[in-house]
Amino acid sequence: MGKRLGVMGGTFDPIHYGHLVTAEEALHQFELDEVVFVPTGQPWMKEHEVVSPPEDRYLMTVIATASNPRFSVSRVEVDREGPTYTIDTLRAMKELSGGDLFFITGADAVLEIFQWKDPSELFEMAHFIAATRPGYDIAALEEQVPGHDGISNMSIPALAISSTDIRARVARGQPIRYLVPEGVVSYVGKVGLYR
Ligand code: NAP
Repeated sequence: MGKRLGVMGGTFDPIHYGHLVTAEEALHQFELDEVVFVPTGQPWMKEHEVVSPPEDRYLMTVIATASNPRFSVSRVEVDREGPTYTIDTLRAMKELSGGDLFFITGADAVLEIFQWKDPSELFEMAHFIAATRPGYDIAALEEQVPGHDGISNMSIPALAISSTDIRARVARGQPIRYLVPEGVVSYVGKVGLYR
């Protein structure tokens, strides 16, 4: 019997408690066996933004998830050359696990899903779980992807924490302790990210 596998896609620059709560809630709500975090390699829709090196984002994700036996981290996108496409990742995961796939990510990313590579095949490969922040306008998601039964919403209060805010806090010299796991605080300081 194949497993019910959560695939948690994100840039994770840096990973924070909102992401960890999202993955744990998806495990519970969708009765998943495990969640594999997949940090993006080269996010193709962010060509004009500065994104931290994939290896740093991968290592922070490993540090943040290490204590949870049902979480793991995949290098599949970090090691793949060229732009990161979710369809390639889902094909690789399907081959490895053979089970049902649940792709978990932020609702803002899911809003653009029809601009991703091979959108119709995406829905054949996985069920999509769109995590929303407090105050998120779910109607916008439903309008953009009307009646799509391949997408579920999950409201996550802890997503009041955001990677953008964390990067800005580090740049301003403000603390990020308790927004990200302790090991991630140390890693950001040691490598000098976001200064
Ligand atoms: P993003 O634009 O950085 O994030 C969009 C929003 O979603 C942000 O508010 C972000 O908050 C939140 N978010 C991102 N990942 C999340 C997660 N796993 N759980 C909860 N919230 C999350 O999006 P992105 O990181 O570039 O892309 C998200 C995923 O979609 C990635 O796996 C990416 O590869 C995939 N994607 C694929 C294609 C394609 O195949 N062509 C195109 C675009 C995106 P934070 O900043 O706090 O994380």
